[in-house]
Formats: sequence, C-alpha cells, structure tokens
Amino acid sequence: MPDCIFCKIINRKLPAKIEYEDEDILAFFDIKPAAKVHIIIVPKKHIASVNELTEKDASIISKMALVGKKLAKKHHTDIKGYKFVINTGLYSGQTILHLHMHLLGGEILAGRKILEI
Ligand code: AMP
Ligand code: ZN
Repeated sequence: MPDCIFCKIINRKLPAKIEYEDEDILAFFDIKPAAKVHIIIVPKKHIASVNELTEKDASIISKMALVGKKLAKKHHTDIKGYKFVINTGLYSGQTILHLHMHLLGGEILAGRKILEI
C-alpha cells in the first residue's frame, strides 16, 4: 500500500529503529513510546486491521505473538509481565490502518495497585 506508513517502514522508505525481522514479520520501536518497552510488531503483508484477517492469515497472527514473546524476553519484561495490544477501528483509536500489535512492558501497566512486584 503506497500511502501506508508501516508499509513504507517495511520497504525501507521511512526510517525506523528495527528490532526484529523475518520473511513475514517486522518489529520496530514505537516513535512515541507509551511505556519503557514499546515495540510495534507488524506483518509484512498489508492487512488493514483484525477485521480484514482471514483464515489464511492464522499463522501470521500467531507468528506476531511469538515474536512479541521473544522480544519481551529480550527486553527483560517476560517475568514481571507485559501487554499485547491490537487496536481495531475508530472506537479503539487505531491510527494506522496496517495491522499491528503493540508490545508494552518494562514497567507497571496494570492501572491499579498490584499485589506484589
Ligand atoms: P495505533 O494507535 O494502535 O494505530 O498505534 C499506532 C502506533 O504507531 C502509535 O503508537 C504511534 O506512536 C506509532 N507510530 C506512528 N508512526 C510511527 C513511525 N513512523 N515509527 C514508529 N512508530 C510509529
Ligand atoms: Zn501497510
């Protein structure tokens, strides 16, 4: 998709701090981090959102989760915890119409008191 920011990052038409790449997936640091660890994980195939996912894409979404898990470990937030967030559509606040998973971690994200650290 020529006008898609994430396709431009995938095609190296826009710079990004790339953290992981394989034949199907790219992961890069969010330009405006909302947590100490904030990495965006995208499929290289342009899929606008979860609403456009099909059965054929089942392996892509699981690969995204496995890359997220690997990067959570790399950034030492696997034990204490992290979040995967996939915004979908207007009400969610999705701003970029290329499917992406946020990996958020490195700090307390519970939004309430937690029992123990
Ligand atoms: P969402 O609100 O779920 O669509 O999230 C889009 C995310 O992409 C936001 O957290 C942005 O900060 C991030 N973002 C936008 N442009 C870039 C960029 N050029 N490089 C890295 N992250 C970006
Ligand atoms: Zn795209």
